[in-house]
Amino acid sequence: MIKKCDHPGCTKAGTCRAPKTRDLREYWWFCREHAAEYNKNWNYYAGMTPEEIEEDWERQTFGSPLKDKKQTEQDNKDYINFLNDFISGRSTFDKTPSKRTTLPSRVVSALKIFELPISASWREISSRYRLLAKKYHPDTAKSNKDTAAENFTKISNAYDILKKHFSKK
Ligand SMILES: [Zn+2]
Repeated sequence: MIKKCDHPGCTKAGTCRAPKTRDLREYWWFCREHAAEYNKNWNYYAGMTPEEIEEDWERQTFGSPLKDKKQTEQDNKDYINFLNDFISGRSTFDKTPSKRTTLPSRVVSALKIFELPISASWREISSRYRLLAKKYHPDTAKSNKDTAAENFTKISNAYDILKKHFSKK
């Protein structure tokens, strides 16, 4: 079922989503024309081009603008495959990729501790950290306390390494 445009009195189909609030939890549904008018009049998007608005939505939804993400994924695909093979012990070292071979081994090891692929985003890393820290924190750990403390140290060290690496970019 297609909703009608939320603009009072408008009878066109509301096919464009416009956020009601800045936290983007609720949306209006406007026709194209009223969505453009709404976006123009709303401070959050004041002065932004339609492309910038679109990028902003993508960033909110996916963590980065889609075109950047696609480009990055394309660039890194071979290298990611190689490093994932390396981490899982499948690599034969026959095909060393030419691109970005400078990723420090301590960063690779840290990602391995987090059980994340080399393509992991900072967002994935920090949410994994919160999960693992909760699991192994000596105060909250449900299993063996000594092992938990050891793991917690390991995770904290790995997180420091990743934090340093990612904050440089
Ligand atoms: Zn309308």
